[in-house]
Amino acid sequence: MIQRILVVGTGTMGGGIAQVAAQAGCMVKLYDQSPDAASAARQRIADSLKRAADKGYVDAATVPDTLARLTPVDALDSVGDVDAVIEAVKEDLDVKRAVFAALEAVVPSDAALWSNTSTIPITRIAEGLKYPRRVAGTHFFNPVPRMRLVEVIAGAQTDEAVVALAERTMLAWGKTPVRAPDTPGFIVNRIFDAIKREALQLLEEGAPVDQVDTAVKLGLNFPMGPFEVMDLVGLDTTYHCLQKQAEAMGRSQAFGTHLPNLVRQRKLGRKTGEGFYQHQAGTDRPIPARTTGQQP
Ligand code: NAD
Repeated sequence: MIQRILVVGTGTMGGGIAQVAAQAGCMVKLYDQSPDAASAARQRIADSLKRAADKGYVDAATVPDTLARLTPVDALDSVGDVDAVIEAVKEDLDVKRAVFAALEAVVPSDAALWSNTSTIPITRIAEGLKYPRRVAGTHFFNPVPRMRLVEVIAGAQTDEAVVALAERTMLAWGKTPVRAPDTPGFIVNRIFDAIKREALQLLEEGAPVDQVDTAVKLGLNFPMGPFEVMDLVGLDTTYHCLQKQAEAMGRSQAFGTHLPNLVRQRKLGRKTGEGFYQHQAGTDRPIPARTTGQQP
């Protein structure tokens, strides 16, 4: 079983993954190319664990030990022995390939290499590596400590033992692994992309934002509507991912006028206070900024 892990890229996802691994008892090293990002991630984890302990979700007595298992490192070549690496750097094939190539030079040749990519096939990431058989996908969801699913993906050359180890590890970390095909977007993003595309098309045809979300929530028993989720994720990220996914699947990249217009105006959802909804500070109740499919 995995005891020592390295997380490369300690932003939103890497920080969450490191927290879950440390809470499960792993010794976790954190590396990010941006100076201080790994220490900042450790601090975010400390804050998040404190909040969880205050609310009674986490036993406060375990927090110091969990934090003691998290070690930021300044350089990849000072990482030392690890059993596995989880890569969570930005969603860019060239950047990810460069990270994996650098990892081959510094981690033991039997360490498993897992990518948290949300859309890029594992086969493509592993292409050109010396040991592509040890590369697999472990696709976590945001926020990592709360979301139970992890899609586990084998590339064309991945060893079955590496995939099985990923599945066992995810179970040991309290997650539910689902084996997903190595296609762009795997399972969840492919399904959810279709929902987002239809929601944007409905808006184009004049359907009100909040009515679409209410219909999806009550009719399909979803906790959030597609426009609420897009505002939560960020409209720039949503637009980028929709475009990449369409490109990878050979589909049209037309997503109506509203999403590109909002991105152009930097109305990016919750993070800027307005997107498909207006988000007032201190309240979770969004007010539709666009009640109909008229031009924003
Ligand atoms: P992020 O921007 O929050 O964090 C990425 C981190 O990687 C940054 O701290 C950056 O400094 C670092 N980084 C970039 N290039 C690097 C390099 N060459 N070496 C080391 N560190 C480097 O991004 P994120 O949202 O955490 O996404 C990371 C990955 O997880 C992406 O592949 C993304 O598609 C995937 N993902 C994201 C979400 C989400 O909701 N944000 C959900 C599932 C999967």
